[in-house]
Amino acid sequence: MSVKPIREYEDSGDKVFLIRGIIEVRIPLRYYHRIAKRYSREYIISFAEPRRVINHITKRQLVFITRECGIPLFGHPAFGLIDRGTNLIQVRPVTGCNLNCIFCSVDEGRISRTRATDYIVEPDYLAAKLEELAGLKGGGVEAHIDGQCEPLLYPYLEELLERMSQIKEIEVISMQTNGILLNESRIAMLSKYVTRINLSINAIDEARANMLAGCRYPVRSVLTHAKRIVDSGMDLLIAPVWIPGYNDAEIEKIIQFALEIGAGKRYPPLGIQKYIPYRYGRKLKSVLTFREFYNKLAEWESEFGVKLILSPADFGIEKRARIHRPIRKGERFRARLIAEGRMFGEKLAIVRDRVITVRTDKRVGEFATFEIVRVHDGIYLAVEV
Ligand code: SF4
Repeated sequence: MSVKPIREYEDSGDKVFLIRGIIEVRIPLRYYHRIAKRYSREYIISFAEPRRVINHITKRQLVFITRECGIPLFGHPAFGLIDRGTNLIQVRPVTGCNLNCIFCSVDEGRISRTRATDYIVEPDYLAAKLEELAGLKGGGVEAHIDGQCEPLLYPYLEELLERMSQIKEIEVISMQTNGILLNESRIAMLSKYVTRINLSINAIDEARANMLAGCRYPVRSVLTHAKRIVDSGMDLLIAPVWIPGYNDAEIEKIIQFALEIGAGKRYPPLGIQKYIPYRYGRKLKSVLTFREFYNKLAEWESEFGVKLILSPADFGIEKRARIHRPIRKGERFRARLIAEGRMFGEKLAIVRDRVITVRTDKRVGEFATFEIVRVHDGIYLAVEV
């Protein structure tokens, strides 16, 4: 991938270093001029104060998670690793998306009203923890790169994939993408490591695709790349979100397209998802019941002769040992708040080698006493008491 490692420019009274197209380090110009002659560029980028580090795409504060910073990679829904007790491990290296889909379940993109902070995880740290977890699970693991993001924005993707491909328990590497950043050289790179791409295309019609994406979505070029993925030997699963009243006719066109280009060899070609309004996601009024959804999938199955009602078994997913869950609902702790939280009114804390989201108005660096109010698949939420 030809992402220029560091680009420099001036903007709004700041000196800006843009690293790998996404990490934006900003230093006020008046301060930068004073230190520029005395220190190297690397030193200034890493240590100069005051400086702000933000995600170039979303413009949110960006927290860089390294082994040295001590933030664990288990416990948070937006970054690190998620173990739901199967042979599938979700790998979440970055947050932030280049689209603003009107149905986004995690309210991503630059227009987000709920997300305050983005995270990026150092690839070596992530791969090492993944190796530990895969070792616990045994052979036949699928490592799936997804998250509250567009994974192709992760600037260390090739390094991460390379490390993942060396983990002996990992048999399948799969990843999600909205397709915007695909190009020939990226597809060639991905095809060296990735077994399956889950590509989210929600409409074939350009105007409708743009409307659903909340910004320009170059559907023609994404469709071309979809075909290239199939030709590259990777498996392709097209995963539209069906929102009744918005893209009903488009779903039928997507099914036809997937079948025409030969998506889905080892896996099903389509993974049609039901739109579900989430509390902190973007909400639309148009919601189907599960019965209506599955009835329509069954109808399309017989019309197009393709399997659309899927189960974990279609992906070879089975139950496996889970990583130890050392914290229980109702437990109380007192700990220092070590970083900004993903949403406004949240901070991160560390307890028993897990990262905890704490709802609090206190600031980073202060101590808080909190109670764990939700534990789900090793993800922890607490409120200050
Ligand atoms: S591509 Fe996915 S993460 Fe990005 S805005 Fe759309 S739904 Fe959200």
